[in-house]
Amino acid sequence: MTENRQWLINGRPRGRGLVDDDFKKVVTQVPEVTEGHVLVKNEILAFDPAQKGWMENIGGYVAPTEIGEVMRGSGIGTVVESRDSAFAAGDKVMGGLRWQDYAMLTGSELIKVPDDDLLSANLGALGTTGLTAYFGLLKHGRPQPGDTLVVSGAAGATGSMVGQIGKIAGCRTIGIAGGKDKCDWLTQEVGYDHAIDYKNEDVRAKLKELCNQSINVFYDNVGGKILNDALAHIAMHARIVICGGISRYEQGDMPAGPENYFNLIFKRGTMSGFIMNDYASEFPEAKKRMRQWIKEDKITFKEDIQEGFDNIPETLKRLFAGQNFGKQLLRLD
Ligand code: NAP
Repeated sequence: MTENRQWLINGRPRGRGLVDDDFKKVVTQVPEVTEGHVLVKNEILAFDPAQKGWMENIGGYVAPTEIGEVMRGSGIGTVVESRDSAFAAGDKVMGGLRWQDYAMLTGSELIKVPDDDLLSANLGALGTTGLTAYFGLLKHGRPQPGDTLVVSGAAGATGSMVGQIGKIAGCRTIGIAGGKDKCDWLTQEVGYDHAIDYKNEDVRAKLKELCNQSINVFYDNVGGKILNDALAHIAMHARIVICGGISRYEQGDMPAGPENYFNLIFKRGTMSGFIMNDYASEFPEAKKRMRQWIKEDKITFKEDIQEGFDNIPETLKRLFAGQNFGKQLLRLD
C-alpha cells in the first residue's frame, strides 16, 4: 500500500484571514484504481484567491465544500495507472487534483497536457488566470485601439496578462500594484506604459495625472478604494470589468459600495462581472492564441514556485499578503 498525504478543510474563514487551523493534515492509503478511473501522482499545484471563497461556501458558483473534504485545487501530475483507455501511465495531465500526493479521477475530469517547456503555464498563463484575463478583457472590457486601460492587481497572474492582451489590442496601459519591485517589473518587462504603486503613492492623484477622466476600460481585481478612485476618472462609455475584489476577501463587515458609482450615469458607463468558466466552450481557441502570443514573445509571464507538501497552506496565504510575485504554484516533494 502507498501512503497518500492529504490536507483537509477544517474551517470556514469567513470575514477573516486564513489560519493554520483551517486545514488538517492526514495520511491515508492510495485507493485501488477502479474501472473508468485514472490514478495521478500530483506534481505541481496552482493557487487562486477563489479557493478561500470556496472554503467559505459563498458565491454559489461551485458546489459547496464540506468540512473534512480534501482541499480543492487544480494541479498537474503524471498518470501512474489508468483504467480509462484515453490515458496511459506516463501521460502528463491537469485537473482538480486537490491538496494531496495522489488523485484518483475519472478520465473526463482530466485533460492531457503537452510535456514541454510550457507545462506549468497550463496552470497560469495558459490556464485559469490567463483565460480569466483573456475573456474578462476581450468580452467585457471590449478594448479598442487607442483606449486607456487601467488594471488593478496588475502584477498578479491575471493582471499581468490583462495588460499584455490590452497592448496587443492597441491600448495605452496603466497598472496598479503594491511595491517598487512589482511596478518596475510592470513597466520594464511586462510592457505597461505606467505603473502606480498603491502602497506608496496616492492612486487617485496619480490617475488624475495620467488619465484624467479618460479611463476607457478599468479591469478590477481588487475592489474597495482603488475601484472608487478609478470610477472618479472614467471616460464616456467606459467599461468597468469586475474580475475580483481581493481587498475585501478577508473583511467581516462589507464596506458600502463605491461612492463614485454615479459617474457611471454621467459617463454612460457599464460595470459587469463574470466567471471565467462561462466561456469554457471557447477555451481551446483562446489557449491556442495565447500559446502563439507567448511563442512570438508578445506575452511574458512569471511564476512563483514554492516547494513541499507541508508548505501548501502557507502558500495559499501568500496571495492575500501580496507575497506572490507571478502565478502562485507549488512543487510537491
Ligand atoms: P494574483 O493577482 O496573482 O495574486 C493576488 C494579488 O492580489 C497579490 O499578489 C497582491 O498583489 C494583491 N492583493 C492582495 N491583497 C490585496 C489588497 N488588500 N489590496 C490590493 N491588492 C491586494 O491572483 P490571481 O489568481 O491572478 O487573482 C486576481 C484576481 O482575479 C482575484 O481577485 C481573483 O479572485 C480574481 N479572479 C477572478 C476570476 C473570475 O472568473 N472572475 C477567475 C480567477 C481569478 P500586490 O502585491 O500588488 O498587492
